[in-house]
Amino acid sequence: MDTTTYTIKGMHCASCAGIIEKTLKNVDGVTSAEVNYGTEAAKIAFNPAKTNPEQLSKTIEPLGYTLVVPTAEAMHMSPSEHAAHLGLSQTKKEKLAEIAEMKNTVLSVIPLTIISIFIMGWDILAQLSVIAEMPNVWSEFFHHLLPLMATYTLFVVGKPYLLGVYRFLRYGKANMDTLIGIGTLAAYLYSFIVTAFEETLAPFLNVEYTYYDVTIVVVAFITLGKYLEARSKVKTGDAIEKLLNLQAKTALVIRDGKEKEISVNEIVHGELIVVKPASRIAVDGILIEGSSYVDESLVTGEPMPVKKETGDTVVSGTMNTNGSFTFKATKVGSETMLARIIAMVQEAQGSRAPIQALADKISAVFVPIVLVIAFLTLAIWLIVGSQYIGFSQALSNGLASFVGVLVIACPCALGLATPTAIIVGVGKGAKEGILVKDAATLEKLYKVNTVVVDKTGTLTNGKPELVSVRAMSDLGEKEIITILASLEKKSEHPIAHAITSHAERQKLAVSSVEHFEAIKGQGLKGIVNGIEYYAGNTKLMTSMKLSFDTSSLDQETLEGKTPVILATQEKVVGVVMVADAVKPEAKEAISRLHTLGIKVIMLTGDNTNTAEFIGKQVGVDDVVAEVLPEGKLAQIKELQSQGNIVAMTGDGVNDAPALAQADVGIAMATGTDVAIESAGITLLHGDISKLVKAITLSKMTMRGIKQNLFWAFAYNVIGIPLAAGVFFPAFGWLLSPVFAGLAMAFSSVSVVGNSLRLQTKRL
Ligand code: ADP
Ligand code: MG
Repeated sequence: MDTTTYTIKGMHCASCAGIIEKTLKNVDGVTSAEVNYGTEAAKIAFNPAKTNPEQLSKTIEPLGYTLVVPTAEAMHMSPSEHAAHLGLSQTKKEKLAEIAEMKNTVLSVIPLTIISIFIMGWDILAQLSVIAEMPNVWSEFFHHLLPLMATYTLFVVGKPYLLGVYRFLRYGKANMDTLIGIGTLAAYLYSFIVTAFEETLAPFLNVEYTYYDVTIVVVAFITLGKYLEARSKVKTGDAIEKLLNLQAKTALVIRDGKEKEISVNEIVHGELIVVKPASRIAVDGILIEGSSYVDESLVTGEPMPVKKETGDTVVSGTMNTNGSFTFKATKVGSETMLARIIAMVQEAQGSRAPIQALADKISAVFVPIVLVIAFLTLAIWLIVGSQYIGFSQALSNGLASFVGVLVIACPCALGLATPTAIIVGVGKGAKEGILVKDAATLEKLYKVNTVVVDKTGTLTNGKPELVSVRAMSDLGEKEIITILASLEKKSEHPIAHAITSHAERQKLAVSSVEHFEAIKGQGLKGIVNGIEYYAGNTKLMTSMKLSFDTSSLDQETLEGKTPVILATQEKVVGVVMVADAVKPEAKEAISRLHTLGIKVIMLTGDNTNTAEFIGKQVGVDDVVAEVLPEGKLAQIKELQSQGNIVAMTGDGVNDAPALAQADVGIAMATGTDVAIESAGITLLHGDISKLVKAITLSKMTMRGIKQNLFWAFAYNVIGIPLAAGVFFPAFGWLLSPVFAGLAMAFSSVSVVGNSLRLQTKRL
């Protein structure tokens, strides 16, 4: 089974997405298809033995769409590589070219529209006796000019809508283009027949009245609306564009002892890359020669360049300042931090929010229902209306209503309401260092009432330092640190780093370790110099049944320090204390969570005394300490069973189950890959104040979506009856199809505009 995301070309409206989805799902071998109008992409799962992308494209081509099938070479690339391969902004370039073409079309109909409106306006004013009738020569002239203008507008500018009618007749598939096509074509054909058979029809109809102007103005307004919509839609994708632009296109590598410039796609693992001053780092790696300051604001959010020396890691997309250095590539292509960020943002922008399901359902049944309503409207005008106002007038009004209903009822705004807001919301998050995995997460986040945070790395810096050593047997302090550092060299825990870097500074040489094993939530063990050692917390000592007076540590643990106890199978041989400073912004962030009405609970595997000290410092509501990884999962489940909606932050492998269980899992980008995979949100700058921003973002985006949906529905609920002439018998109100066209264009534009407003709001 293959699941791939393809670009779809030719979508003009939200209902297109539904049609494509249905058609693809009907293909033998396709198990699922998800088409998103906002991102113009289709995620298709299919059995490659039964079908292939070329075939899938063929099935939708008659409907006016194509699936962009990647070339064999591009198939093996990640989305970001693919974008890079295409010359990065190629897709945007194409879009801009399309928009430029749309602009020309719009410009070509503007004069025609002005003339039409001028004639209509004169007509209306003359009927109201405000001004005199148009001079005969003029009206004769316009009488002949209007059909020509309408023919051009409908058949050249309005071609997509006519194709919609054709597809409807040929394949029975209707979308919003079909509605507009039928409406304008009906108006045009009626007028054409009246013009052609003027004398024959004169006794039955008001042959003075034609709908050429309506055809022109409706097509023009809708084309203008689409142009404005396309222009704004390009803007909603800005975030990805900015990220893609951070990707270096080439790199200077050392091959056969010479510097050589190659494309980033050609870089392989272990390659040596030279970074010159003021150039971008192409892939992730480890610095092996030279030193420099690197602007890492992409990952850390800190504007201050960071010093990089031998052994330090460098990240793709970050910017070198003045120095120059050589690094060894450790992660290339789709594995790099930047590629993963881009892939995540892209995936999230294209994902579907549950709230959209309703809009989708409505759009799917909307088009056929509207067609029925339109024909019924026409029939009622002709049958009932002609008894009151005469056949000629009833036909005229009926036709106006028919066109009006078809035009105003387009579910375009409805389809744009959710995806445009999601695209802008996710993009805005990415700019702030908040990576959202999918739209569903964004939809859930603002409902959270309990936040569970871990201590290390979230509330504290996550860079503990060794602060004291206590020997408890004949082993000296140096020996204790050497043995500990040897063991910890194999661990990824932040505590491990504190000990190994201390040993390095003291220039203590570590020994080799055999039979190393990590003991989850407690510490580790291994054989050093032929002796089996254990290192970890007091729980580990208890489980080994070693007598150890924990109260001897109280003084230091009550100050927030964490003990690491070293023992053999028989006895405790020493203790080191590590301390991790509280993040300066943690306290403020927690009080902001409180103002949002959110309860904050600290959950940690660390010592109770240590945990409570830190907890008090930052002002959390509750501290749960000395929990094993399974305990974290159970704790989340417990909170959920009490009816809470829980968000959890975490960084380690041991946090992954709890992150997945939480309603919203929040990982730190500095944490492990497993944690990031399991989380719904990744905070790039590993900082809890970003969590407050993420919640605000979720709130804002959801509010935007709800506003959009409300307006999109309201338009149709008010517009359809008005256009159908429901208020005509009582008040004489009848919506001119021209206004229907204007309203329709305005509704799409206003929905996209409202979504774009999110971009400018402060988090
Ligand atoms: P947390 O991330 O909340 O600290 P963990 O499950 O990662 O939770 O760790 C729980 C406790 O186990 C730590 O506070 C520490 O006391 C001990 N521990 C875990 N790994 C190590 C290690 N590599 N070295 C020493 N102690 C460790
Ligand atoms: Mg941890």
